[in-house]
Amino acid sequence: MVTYRYRCSGCGPFDLALPMGHAGPERPCAECGDTARRVFTAPSLGRPGSPLTRALDAQAASAHEPQVVSRPAAPPPRPAAPRDPRHAKLPRP
Ligand SMILES: [Zn+2]
Repeated sequence: MVTYRYRCSGCGPFDLALPMGHAGPERPCAECGDTARRVFTAPSLGRPGSPLTRALDAQAASAHEPQVVSRPAAPPPRPAAPRDPRHAKLPRP
């Protein structure tokens, strides 16, 4: 999928994700249905599948597809305190 930009004379620019080669010079506007003309922009230089692209995609998806959890995440385990041999001599309850 490739993101193509169109500009409606009344609503302004909007983006459409279409298969490569399927973008015509005009599309109906997503809001008003009027004819929108294609706008040529600089190509996206991000590499698909790179860690940065995956992180940005996950961040964008969390805005409209948040993951539902049943409870808060467990806190990380605390590091073990160093054992003091004098503690063994303390009285026990
Ligand atoms: Zn429009």
